[in-house]
Amino acid sequence: MSGIRPTGFLHLGNYFGAMRNYVKLQEEYTCYFMVADLHALTTHPDTKELKENVHRVLAENIACGIDPEKAALYCQSHVRETSELYLYLNMLAYLGELEKTTTFKDKARLQPDNINAGLLTYPVLQAADIILHRATWVPVGKDQEQHLEMARNFVKRFNHRYGEVFPEPLAYNFGEDLVKVPSLDGTGKMSKSENQLATLYLADADDVIRKKVMKAKTDGGPTSPNMPKPDYIENIFQLMRLVSAADVVSSFEGSYDNCSIRYGDMKKQLAEDMVAFIAPIRERAESIRNDSIYLEDIMQLGAEKARKSAVATMDLVRNAMGLVY
Ligand code: AMP
Repeated sequence: MSGIRPTGFLHLGNYFGAMRNYVKLQEEYTCYFMVADLHALTTHPDTKELKENVHRVLAENIACGIDPEKAALYCQSHVRETSELYLYLNMLAYLGELEKTTTFKDKARLQPDNINAGLLTYPVLQAADIILHRATWVPVGKDQEQHLEMARNFVKRFNHRYGEVFPEPLAYNFGEDLVKVPSLDGTGKMSKSENQLATLYLADADDVIRKKVMKAKTDGGPTSPNMPKPDYIENIFQLMRLVSAADVVSSFEGSYDNCSIRYGDMKKQLAEDMVAFIAPIRERAESIRNDSIYLEDIMQLGAEKARKSAVATMDLVRNAMGLVY
């Protein structure tokens, strides 16, 4: 189970942190992937734009390889049971732990005039999304590690108080550690809304991709053999490892180590490999996005599958809690 908020264009971080893993998991597991429109409300977006954003995120998910016939691909607000479970879990979540959450502190800093209760209980809603399907694997990027730990705590508390209903959910990345895709300016991670010039979006045109990559921060090059790489240079290598062929990466690694590297050439290579990676996804997403009828059918099919699982879980929950009179 996993979700992505419809708060902006999807980017390379969403792809490598989340969607790449969705595509692999759907082959072996029963999967639930959703567009997290309720989570998006915590930042008070203009709700007139939500429909277009929900459609775009759905189209981009499908363009990246999610098969709506295999996985349940749905919209969070179409499954009302989520909100009921969120309410019950809120009684098991404590103010102190919620206030200490890194993402809450970051958001509170970014939007000091809108520190609403939904923002504070964001990890509770996320836990409800996951355990509504009694999910065990949650494909997410590294930034979600703390939320997953909180979800496990809520599960332990629920099971301890009311009896074993939920498995403990674990963050999942295929075969490696959780991923954090760095931004191109050497600071922080790629993100939907911050530092847009340093983020590569799946909807970026070829020349925009080239321009952004060529602007990535570099320096005069290494001054002695086998020097450790500064963060912003390591970030460029990291991006290259995601999209370029292994021999291309090792050739630039070699020229870094013997001080012959030319960052201009490296960025040109990275830009072309990024274009080759992103362009087919962008083109597929564009044609899917124009077909609203198809997207609405997909959402309906996904919501039916998700509701079936949600209703079964909520029966277990109400019984365990004794809410049956
Ligand atoms: P969000 O964009 O916050 O709705 O996140 C959707 C998914 O993308 C989550 O699983 C995040 O962990 C993942 N994600 C977002 N940004 C990055 C990034 N820069 N690197 C890796 N994963 C990311």
